[in-house]
Amino acid sequence: MCFDVDATLVDHEASTRAGLCELLGADEAWAEWCALTDRHYACYLAGEVDFDTMRQQRTRDFFASRGEVLCDSEVGQREERRAAAVRRAWRLFDDALPCLRALRTLGLRLAAITNAAGAHQRAKLAALGLESAFDAVLISGELGVAKPHRAIFRRACRVLGVRPAQAVHVGDRLDTDAEGARDAGLHGVWLDRSGCGALPQGAGISVIRRLAELPALLTRHAR
Ligand SMILES: [Mg+2]
Repeated sequence: MCFDVDATLVDHEASTRAGLCELLGADEAWAEWCALTDRHYACYLAGEVDFDTMRQQRTRDFFASRGEVLCDSEVGQREERRAAAVRRAWRLFDDALPCLRALRTLGLRLAAITNAAGAHQRAKLAALGLESAFDAVLISGELGVAKPHRAIFRRACRVLGVRPAQAVHVGDRLDTDAEGARDAGLHGVWLDRSGCGALPQGAGISVIRRLAELPALLTRHAR
């Protein structure tokens, strides 16, 4: 059983909003920040910039779009303050630990598959007490391959000692997680916490609203 981390186990939105509050005194620019993150994160995942450079450039662009042109040292200071506020706000969703424990009880081997920088994501897992929750942790920044590429899903299966057809991956992104896993031969599960998503017909993936639904889904899948 493989898990995405951000917005699946970790309440990524809450910590991101805390970072925006630190910068602005409010999180009013949420949509703007998300759009900027999508653009900058794509450059990071494509290997065009390293993680820290991506974060600096995002913060620089964020303030520039609001009419404030910052020098390098000011960008660095504000990004440092934002990142510290984000770290202080790292939290698991309420259903994360109960789900991980329930799957352990079923005797399943667990992996995390996450698109991020290695040190950043390992610090997060450690801060949240998840260091030893997984049999394998696969981080794109350490492996040089990111979801939705099938290689990272296949690698997780090898490390867990299972065939892709025996493995399930759950994540909050339909494209990166559920469809990526499906295309790699795993069973893809889309965690649609908002319930607002629309699944294309015949997508060949499962949809759940909460992680608490996962044990029952796996029991059905194993039959
Ligand atoms: Mg995610």
